[in-house]
Amino acid sequence: MSECIFCKIANGEIKSEILYKDEQVVAFKDISPRAAIHFLIIPVKHIPTVYDLEEEDNELVGHIFQVAKKLADEYNIAESGYRLVVNCKEDGGQEVFHLHFHLLGGEKLGAFC
Ligand code: 5GP
Ligand code: ZN
Repeated sequence: MSECIFCKIANGEIKSEILYKDEQVVAFKDISPRAAIHFLIIPVKHIPTVYDLEEEDNELVGHIFQVAKKLADEYNIAESGYRLVVNCKEDGGQEVFHLHFHLLGGEKLGAFC
């Protein structure tokens, strides 16, 4: 049994506000939102960091971006815009070591880069 918190969210062991789910991807609300809209999109497959992605995962990553688009449509931020963020390891500020894409929007976000 996995000790990973996001694996547990993906398999339903830990409750969260699931927004989207299919065989490959799950999206849910971040427990401590830093913007009006702050969702997390994760692969069901346990991949620790973005640096651990392999060529064989390219389709999965493309699918994640399509799920982000779908959520942007559903939550009416497709026109106003949004930000997708992936933190990687310590200097990147990654806290949960199961790959996740932050989907942020619903307000003007501060300049970052
Ligand atoms: P990181 O810093 O690793 O890029 O982001 C981890 C994110 O996961 C944080 O924004 C944090 O609020 C969120 N998070 C951590 N634990 C949980 C949880 O149990 N449920 C949900 N929904 N989000 C979580
Ligand atoms: Zn995991």
